[in-house]
Amino acid sequence: MSVRLTDVRKSFGGLDVIHGVSMEIPQGGFGVFVGPSGCGKSTLLRMIAGLEQTDGGKIEIEGRDVTAVEPADREVAMVFQSYALYPHLSVYDNMAFSLKLARAPKAKTREMVHEAARILQLEEQLDKKPAQLSGGQRQRVAIGRAIVRQPKVFLFDEPLSNLDAELRVQMRLELTRLHRQLGTTMIYVTHDQVEAMTLADRIFVLRSGEVQQAGAPLELYDNPDNRFVGGFIGSPS
Ligand code: ADP
Ligand code: MG
Repeated sequence: MSVRLTDVRKSFGGLDVIHGVSMEIPQGGFGVFVGPSGCGKSTLLRMIAGLEQTDGGKIEIEGRDVTAVEPADREVAMVFQSYALYPHLSVYDNMAFSLKLARAPKAKTREMVHEAARILQLEEQLDKKPAQLSGGQRQRVAIGRAIVRQPKVFLFDEPLSNLDAELRVQMRLELTRLHRQLGTTMIYVTHDQVEAMTLADRIFVLRSGEVQQAGAPLELYDNPDNRFVGGFIGSPS
């Protein structure tokens, strides 16, 4: 199993927000955390990234216990919304940034940036600044910054929520294609049921810091365990 959480807990200032979550996302899988605003999706993702400490439980990536491992050593990469690009840097330098920071050899950096640009169809845009790109291209650059690091797991926190409806649909297709092409494990957070249904091979429905149900999209759609899951993604029967 690629990513495994065992009884993971988190509280902020005495308020329990994650109540003991256990889940598994298989190697190469596309897991989606879906649930209403405030249910703990980002907190869970940030704990997997190591950006937030756990207050209990265990997080494993490809069998390695990373619960106490620094974010930089977890071999995960988080994709932020496209506005998190550096406006004064070119597309190339935006994508190369983390590799330069890690003092990767120049040739390796060039190779990885060009490879990411090829996958994301950004080869013609490498010298441009983010302001010269379309919204979809900017979002692809944000994904490119993660690809160059060759992570074992990609983490996405509502990366499409700032895009207009048409572009969201297009980016969903691109993410599916990217997942197929790279074969890397992905974990994706959204409050959007349609996004969850179209992207996931495994959905985790969250409510108030607990997993209400986990399963394949159609499994949940056809056989919701309870009213909450039914109301959220299930058929209205
Ligand atoms: P979601 O991403 O599902 O909208 P979050 O994980 O951001 O939910 O938040 C879950 C709960 O934890 C919310 O009640 C939120 O207010 C609280 N929370 C998140 N981060 C912090 C923090 N750094 N300090 C205090 N409370 C927080
Ligand atoms: Mg969130």
